[in-house]
Formats: sequence, structure tokens, C-alpha cells
Amino acid sequence: MDDLFSLNQKVTIVTGGNGGIGKGVAQGFAAAGADIVIVARNPQKTEAAVKEISQAFGVRCTGILCDVSEESAVNEMAAKVNRDYGRIDILVNNAGINIRKMPEDYDASEWDVVMAGNLRSAFLCSKSVYPAMKLGGGGKIINIGSMTSIFGGAKLAPYSASKSGIVQLTRSLACAWAKYNIQVNAILPGFIDTDLTIQARKDIPGLNETVTARTPCGRWGQPHELQGAAIFLASRASEFVTGISLPVDGGFSINML
Ligand code: NAP
Repeated sequence: MDDLFSLNQKVTIVTGGNGGIGKGVAQGFAAAGADIVIVARNPQKTEAAVKEISQAFGVRCTGILCDVSEESAVNEMAAKVNRDYGRIDILVNNAGINIRKMPEDYDASEWDVVMAGNLRSAFLCSKSVYPAMKLGGGGKIINIGSMTSIFGGAKLAPYSASKSGIVQLTRSLACAWAKYNIQVNAILPGFIDTDLTIQARKDIPGLNETVTARTPCGRWGQPHELQGAAIFLASRASEFVTGISLPVDGGFSINML
């Protein structure tokens, strides 16, 4: 039974794994035995996360600086992981950004930055690991969506468009690559306490209270609370599960009020 959820020596790429949800997931995977490659842009944050995970879990953990919205950088990143580790078993497409404005206030370049950071990046990274996964006999891809994969919001036009795109990208990749034993699933986090939301909590009056009131669990989530769902979707336990989008939201999405 233990083996069902083991990630022992599975070579895992976590984009945006130097903080927030990505680091929480990377720590959970390392505790389950995976070797971790953190892919992000900030050198200090990435180095600190690599050190923290290597020391705490004794697994092989390295960092690669890469803008995941840039195709050539992504392809080089995947080639390097394949060269250094000899295979790629798991990809977590977690890197993401948001720019909050009313729709009429965005310029096209801001729209493009959000779509590229959240959706183009997941497509590019998935495509870049596909040959190694196919050659290795299978793999697992986990895309991080959002409650905005389901709901809209006045100041979330590009973010919600990119995150609902994540759900459909997940389904299409799952259909395409199931025959190669590659399962592709998404996690839709609720409101999680990270750098991305800390500013929103300060900037948006009432956000904290609204989220707490609407979430049946009565609180915000913590980054480590995504670990269980992510380990399930990365392990043998989910061999016959593909194309789903799993909310991990304390019940936010099933509460009408
Ligand atoms: P976060 O703390 O701001 O982390 C985002 C990470 O993405 C950072 O590590 C950042 O690292 C990396 N990143 C951003 N753009 C990148 C790029 N172009 N190339 C490479 N790395 C990039 O935010 P978070 O809350 O943990 O969010 C993680 C994911 O969960 C995002 O996809 C977000 O949309 C999603 N999410 C979050 C919540 C929430 O409540 N927090 C809810 C639903 C969904 P660098 O700065 O070093 O590049």
C-alpha cells in the first residue's frame, strides 16, 4: 500500500517551486522521495529553496533559472534536466502571475503577459517534457488552475481566461497522451496564503472576510495543503485518473452563498 503513493527517485520539475504553493508541493514530493528540479526566475529565492529542500529531505534538488513563457528557454531547461537526471517523470506547471484591473484598463501587453505566464507556459513546459516521458514509458503532468478556472471576477479578465484555459489544456493533453501512459490532471486551489494573495488581501477591502465567510472550512488554505492531492496525482495511485480538475478549496466551490 505504501508503494502506491511513493515518489521514490521520481525526477520532478516544479515550475515556480521557489515559493508559495510550488514550494509547498515540492516539499511534499521530496518527503515522498522524489528528486526535485525547481524552475523559476529569481536566483536568491531559488537558491534558498534548493538549499532548504536538499537539507530537509536528503533528496537531490537543483534549481534552473528560466522564464517559462519563453519557448527556447523552456526547451533548454527540459534538455538540461534530461541530461543531468537521465529522465523526467513528473512536471508540475505551477508558475503563475496576476495583474488585477478592470477589463477596460488592461493594455494588450498586460493581457499577453498574464496569458503567457499562466497558460502558454503550461503548454510549452508540457510539450518540452513529452518526448522524455514517452521514451521513459510514462509520466505525470499536474497543472495548477484556480477557482477562476470556474468563476469570473471583475478584475480577473486575463487571469480567469488563462486559468479556465488550463482546464481545457489539461483535458486535451490527457486525451492526446494517455496512450503513452502519461496522465495529465489539474488542481484548482481555493484561496491560499502566499505572496500572490498577501498583496490582494491588503489591496482589496473585505477580501479576507469574504473568503473566510464563503469557505465552509472557515479559513484560507496553506501551501502545504496542496501536497496530498498533488502526491495522489503524481503517483501510481492515480494510474487510471486523467483529464480531471480537482478543487482543493476548503469547499469554496460547492458553497452557494
Ligand atoms: P507565488 O508565491 O507568487 O508563486 C508564483 C511562482 O511562479 C513564483 O515562484 C515565481 O518565481 C514563479 N513564476 C512566475 N512567473 C514565472 C515565469 N514566467 N517563469 C518562471 N517562474 C515564474 O504564487 P502562488 O500563490 O504560490 O501561486 C502558484 C500558482 O498557484 C499560480 O499558478 C497561481 O495562479 C495559482 N493559484 C494560487 C492561489 C492562491 O490563493 N495563492 C489560488 C489559486 C491558484 P520567480 O518570481 O522566481 O519567477
